[in-house]
Amino acid sequence: MMVLSNSLSGRGSLNRRLIAFVAAACLALTALASFQRWRAHDEKLAQATIETANLSRSLAQHAQDTFSAAETVLIGLQERVGVDGTGPAALERLARVMRQRVATMPQIHGLFLFDAQGRWLANSVPGAPIDLDYADRSYFRYHRDHTDAGTLVGEPVQSKVDGSWIIMVTRRLNHPDGSFAGVIDATISVDLFRDFYDRFDIGQKGVIALANDDKRILVRRPYDEGNYGRSLAGGPIFSNVQPQFDSRSFVYVSIFDGKSRLGSYNRVSGFPLLVLVGRDKAEILAGWWRDTSISAALVAGIVLIIVTLGRRLSAQIAEQERIEAQYRLLAENSTDAIICIGLDGRRSYASPSFCTMLGWPPAEMLGIAWTKIVPQDDWHIIQKGIADLGSGVPSVSLVYRYIRRDGTPIWVEMRARATALRLGDAVEMVANIRDITRQKAAEDELARVNAELEILTLTDALTGIGNRRQFDLVIQKEWTRAMRDGRPLALLMIDADCFKSYNDRCGHHMGDECLKAIAQILSTSIRRPADLAARFGGEEFAVILPNTPGPAAADIAQAMRKRLQDLGIPHDGNPNGVATISIGVAVDVPERGSVSGGLIVRADQALYHAKNGGRNRVVLAGPTDVARIAG
Ligand code: GH3
Ligand code: MG
Ligand code: MG
Repeated sequence: MMVLSNSLSGRGSLNRRLIAFVAAACLALTALASFQRWRAHDEKLAQATIETANLSRSLAQHAQDTFSAAETVLIGLQERVGVDGTGPAALERLARVMRQRVATMPQIHGLFLFDAQGRWLANSVPGAPIDLDYADRSYFRYHRDHTDAGTLVGEPVQSKVDGSWIIMVTRRLNHPDGSFAGVIDATISVDLFRDFYDRFDIGQKGVIALANDDKRILVRRPYDEGNYGRSLAGGPIFSNVQPQFDSRSFVYVSIFDGKSRLGSYNRVSGFPLLVLVGRDKAEILAGWWRDTSISAALVAGIVLIIVTLGRRLSAQIAEQERIEAQYRLLAENSTDAIICIGLDGRRSYASPSFCTMLGWPPAEMLGIAWTKIVPQDDWHIIQKGIADLGSGVPSVSLVYRYIRRDGTPIWVEMRARATALRLGDAVEMVANIRDITRQKAAEDELARVNAELEILTLTDALTGIGNRRQFDLVIQKEWTRAMRDGRPLALLMIDADCFKSYNDRCGHHMGDECLKAIAQILSTSIRRPADLAARFGGEEFAVILPNTPGPAAADIAQAMRKRLQDLGIPHDGNPNGVATISIGVAVDVPERGSVSGGLIVRADQALYHAKNGGRNRVVLAGPTDVARIAG
């Protein structure tokens, strides 16, 4: 059962509010997840940046250590040549020292000394071809043409001795007059760096590069001999390498494979070199993408669930609102009044018909307690109805009164039904109320007429006392009751004396008047509510006296007889000169299973005896039907 409420104004927008809530919840969830993923994205890149920066710093340190060691060895050899000269014995000793250095320093691949024409004077490679010409090498030409005493780090070249890739670290040798005396040279194997760079986990597409200030590659992982000496000038890396910063991190697009990379460079202290570490952005973010996909799937799933539940709830609300609108339409347009009442008796809804019925404006109706509009005499009816509903009776029908606003009472019939439990509410009842004032008045009138008719059917039209029908009913009832109680039941049979002649002399009208006078005496001589005086037929009467023993009944009969005689209605045909009656009295304590007929017969016989005995007298029937004159 639908429960209507008088305060439904906000309900219409409930669905819209639900949709707004669902949308807001989904948006908030998505925004929260996106924010969290975005933060994770930034953190991941920041962490990778720190890692590449740290790695580039470590690798720059490694390069510095390597080249510094070579430089130190070269400076030592340079001094030795300056002191010992280049005589055969000195060169022999120098070559020995060179071999010793190479043997003890794994980072140095070979050591060489060239004269001013680029010919080998000494080297660390036993059995190396002596006639090789190095005058064409760029570093040789550089030292020949430049007088500065610094260490030069060259680009990778293929060894003329063993064909391996090497980096030359060279210094110029001077004659005492400062003229060019040759070049001393340490070679460092590119494989040294390769092996070292291979130890670091920088992903499949990560890059480690050692480059010089001429923007040329010395070593690069991944390895490709074609890249050795390749120029990075004009590329994105060197546009990020700035003179004022020894190290820096940046994002760039590689000229090798076009991939976006996160890069960090670090200068090698003391040498015109720098180390670059680059990590593929897609690789760095691979894990993040995986987590983000899972997160997105979860969020999408939750959003789907929320939206699905929201749609179902919305459909239910819409259906409920539709049904409620229907019920409201029915309630508001019904001529019957409809109200909703809580078990505390408070109304939560009153239809317009209810307000009209009681004459109160709808705005005030709900605020009026039922005790104010129901007369106190009828409170118990309502209280019982509420209690019945509260104890589980499904529906009740009550008839009671209301007092209208103008003070007039109306009768109503209420049919109330308990409604289902509503969340947070007590049980309510929905009641249908009909004004039955007219019907009630008609019923009362009918009952009154019926009662009158009932009386009429039991009343003798002439005398106004009970008629034969009433006598028959009462004697039957009283006989049964006397039988049950074991008490005596007395019956008086009364007959007007010589009445035929009264009629003949005075006329029927006077006869009727005389009968009325007799009835009057009989009905006023009995005192108890159960006593009955009735006209038995013609000028015969009967009086029923429950719970009355014989003597008492005879006394009452005597009093009746005497009162009529004393009334002195003239009656020439009666030997007494006035109207008189004869009375037969019979008393019985009915036996179980007996009928009242016997009592009537015995009273009749007593009457017969009274007539025979001279009339105007009372005869009490004896217990064995032996009549006895009572007076
Ligand atoms: P008794 O003393 O033996 O009773 O003599 P009685 O004349 O009364 O004899 P009976 O009982 O035979 O007479 C009955 C008479 O009562 C007949 C009738 O004229 C008269 N009577 C019966 N009913 C009415 C009635 O309703 N009105 C009038 N006026 N007279 C009636
Ligand atoms: Mg008679
Ligand atoms: Mg008579």
